[in-house]
Amino acid sequence: MHALLFFFIFLRMFIFIFQTQREPPVVPLRINYSNMDDLKRDAQKMPQSWSMAQPTETSLHLGLYEEKGCKMNISINAEDFDNLYAEVKVFSLPVPHLRTNLQEKRVHKLSEELQGMFICAGILDEDLQPYAELPDGSSFYKHVSYTIEEGKAFHRSTIRSAACLLLQTTDTLCTKCQSVRSLLEKKKIAQENRVASTSLYDPLKGFTVDNMKSVLKRERQEKKMKEKELEKFRSEMKKSNIEVDRELNDSP
Ligand SMILES: [Zn+2]
Repeated sequence: MHALLFFFIFLRMFIFIFQTQREPPVVPLRINYSNMDDLKRDAQKMPQSWSMAQPTETSLHLGLYEEKGCKMNISINAEDFDNLYAEVKVFSLPVPHLRTNLQEKRVHKLSEELQGMFICAGILDEDLQPYAELPDGSSFYKHVSYTIEEGKAFHRSTIRSAACLLLQTTDTLCTKCQSVRSLLEKKKIAQENRVASTSLYDPLKGFTVDNMKSVLKRERQEKKMKEKELEKFRSEMKKSNIEVDRELNDSP
């Protein structure tokens, strides 16, 4: 009888342990899009300043246009809906940190968020531009962008970190470009120090006022001696009836 009771208790414990170790039920994955029509329909909900290029069967391109031209764009390759990503570009440069899985974030939400972001201006400081003429390999580059204002094309040159964030939530220089600016400032200071140390070899470096006075005194004495010699030469020429042109020969 006791053995039967122990068997039931053991069986209950086994069932309890088995139940607690079971995997949690699988939650069905919620996806935003399963076909191109869903995607196109959602893209139509983007803010007015965005526009959509003619979509193909497998791709969609959206652009945010301002007076000065295209500010940014979103490219979607829709060949595989299990792997549906939006690639964001600014000045035709990809913005890797904003690559977005569209099965997790809807395309019109992404366009709204991007519209509120700011473009990193890059390093525009005039005094630092010469120190970026020779790129140091891969940490920064000179970026030239073109805009159209009142029907005229303009270009703007700036220095960017190779890892520039390009788009961010604050209207400041991005952290990557800030590092490059510090690097260029150090280059500038090093160059200025080099110029200062070169001036140590200036011919007048180390001359005191007394030195200068003695040099001038010596030069005056030499000039007087030359004048005396010239005067002596003139008198000799005079004795020989030869006139010496004062203007041409009275030089030291
Ligand atoms: Zn930047």
